[in-house]
Amino acid sequence: MMNKIEHIGIAVKDIEKSNELFASLFGEKHYKIEDVLSEGVKTSFFQIGPNKIELLEASNPNSPISKFIEKKGEGIHHIAFSVTNINKEIDRLKKEGFTILNETPKKGADNKLVSFLHPKSTNGVLIELCQEIVEKDKVNEVL
Ligand code: ZN
Repeated sequence: MMNKIEHIGIAVKDIEKSNELFASLFGEKHYKIEDVLSEGVKTSFFQIGPNKIELLEASNPNSPISKFIEKKGEGIHHIAFSVTNINKEIDRLKKEGFTILNETPKKGADNKLVSFLHPKSTNGVLIELCQEIVEKDKVNEVL
C-alpha cells in the first residue's frame, strides 16, 4: 500500500537556473541540494506546504536524466510515493505484474531507500517508491 505522494521529480538542464526559477514560482528557496553519485544526478528539494518537488540535473552524460532530456526535453520525470515497507511493496507489485527496475532498494536522495517501476508497466509514468530511513543502522536491517 502506498501512503501518499512523497514528491514529484522534474528533470532540468541547469539546476542553478531552475532553483532560481522555482524559488520565484514557489516564493520559497530550495531547502537542500544533494548529489546522488550512484544515479549520476544532482538534486534539489523544495517544500510547498505538505508537498515536495525534486529538481534533477544530470551530473554526467550517461545519467538517466541526460537520456530523459535528450528524448523528451525538460519536464516531469517521476512521481514518488512513500511506503512504509519498501520490500513488502516491491513483492506486492511484482505479484501484480509490474516491472521493478531495481528489486533491491538503493539509497536515494533525501534520506530514502528507493526503488523504481519501469514506465512501460505504468502507462509511461516512472514511479519511485521511497521509504524514509529512520536511523542509519536500520539500513542494513531493511536491505
Ligand atoms: Zn525522486
